[in-house]
Amino acid sequence: MPRDPSPHFRLGCFHCDREDYDGVTELPKDWTDITEVQTLEQALTPVDFTAPTRLNIFEWQTHLGVCPECQTEDEGPAVT
Ligand SMILES: [Zn+2]
Repeated sequence: MPRDPSPHFRLGCFHCDREDYDGVTELPKDWTDITEVQTLEQALTPVDFTAPTRLNIFEWQTHLGVCPECQTEDEGPAVT
């Protein structure tokens, strides 16, 4: 079996600074609003802090989304 050559994702959360999804090979289905913010190549390039158009404070991610824990906080207590 050849290894999957696709690059991994460096997924971070908009609301917290968890890094445990840095390097996943597929995007988790329980995260929402996942957006590609930069390519892996860009994420691995040192950030030029003098550049006028910085993406955001999380320069290492390729994707940003809302993790399940923060989804719960956003929506408040679940109504059952
Ligand atoms: Zn989160």
